[in-house]
Amino acid sequence: MSNRARAQNEWQRRIARAEELGAQYSFAAEILRFYVTVARFQENFSGELGKSLKRSSAGAVASDSEPFGQPLPPELAGRFDKLLSVVEQSGPGPLAEVARELRNSGEDLHFQLLTTFWNGSETEALPSGPKDFFARAFLQPYAEVIRSRSNLRPSGPAPFLCPFCKRKPGLGVLRPLGDGGQRSLICSFCLAEWEFRRIVCPGCGEENHAKLPVYTAEELNHVRVEGCDSCRSYIKTVDLTKSGRAEPIVDEMASIPLDLWAQEHGYTKLQPNLLQL
Ligand SMILES: [Zn+2]
Ligand SMILES: [Zn+2]
Repeated sequence: MSNRARAQNEWQRRIARAEELGAQYSFAAEILRFYVTVARFQENFSGELGKSLKRSSAGAVASDSEPFGQPLPPELAGRFDKLLSVVEQSGPGPLAEVARELRNSGEDLHFQLLTTFWNGSETEALPSGPKDFFARAFLQPYAEVIRSRSNLRPSGPAPFLCPFCKRKPGLGVLRPLGDGGQRSLICSFCLAEWEFRRIVCPGCGEENHAKLPVYTAEELNHVRVEGCDSCRSYIKTVDLTKSGRAEPIVDEMASIPLDLWAQEHGYTKLQPNLLQL
């Protein structure tokens, strides 16, 4: 079987898409290059977690209603160093600096940082200081594994926060449905996807069409800003009816001109993405 024919996992698809968009759009080249190094770490870590959780019972005891209610296993912190050295070598200056400081601070402090992030408040946006970047990038594959092993099947009205980890959505997606698109939201942390009504602000619930402006730019015109004039928040939505090749979280990151537009017009992002944009 050739490399091309071999099925890619979701991390590999994101990496390939980031390389493709980075070559195409100079305004996103640098951040996508950095994203690729982080996502490669995440892919490896995710593979290791899959194996080690299969052996231990740790993955199986999470309760169905609260898959994220279990404390973080301390042995996880032992792998944090690897991410720190990746960023120290290839991250942007300020993050590389923080990576170096963190590497010198020892495993106890690492575990403390990770636990604080893991237990963080449910209703606030994910924190976005430089140390939080590391906690989020590191814990994301673990969160994805915990979520994918959970038996939770969300029902009832579409929630504003992730039904699994209770964090805010990081972006929206429109998937082909009949003649139009069905909107869903993607969690900013565990990357769960859940259906959400199309004309509702995921920040405050505003339903008045006139208060929910949509903006697209010429570059990457399959990504749109969905603003809300009631709470002044915005979220970007990747329209898969216009581009089936898109990898939503990567296309969201690449569409930097839309963030600039939104910020110039006084909107604040509901939840900054992994790269804190
Ligand atoms: Zn989640
Ligand atoms: Zn709103």
